Amino acid sequence: MEYFGVLIAFLVAYWVYSDAKSRGKTNAKAFLWFLGVFFLLILFLPLWLITRPKVRLCSHCGKYYEYKAAHGFCPECRVE
Ligand SMILES: [Zn+2]
Repeated sequence: MEYFGVLIAFLVAYWVYSDAKSRGKTNAKAFLWFLGVFFLLILFLPLWLITRPKVRLCSHCGKYYEYKAAHGFCPECRVE
C-alpha cells in the first residue's frame, strides 16, 4: 500500500504542475510546486488552491488569461 500513496501524491503533484503551467507559471516554478505537493501534499495542495492565479478560459481562442474583475476580457482577442 506504500506505493499506492506515492502514486496518488505523484498524480496530484502532476495535476498541480500542469495547472500551474496553464495559469502562466514558468516551468521552473511549476516544478517547484510539483516537488512541494509531492513531498508535502497536506501543506502545499491547499496552499496552491488558495494562491493560484485566477484565470478564465477564453471560449473564443481557447487560451487562459488572468481574470481581473475590472476588465474581464481576453487580452488575445478582446472578447469577454
Ligand atoms: Zn481569446
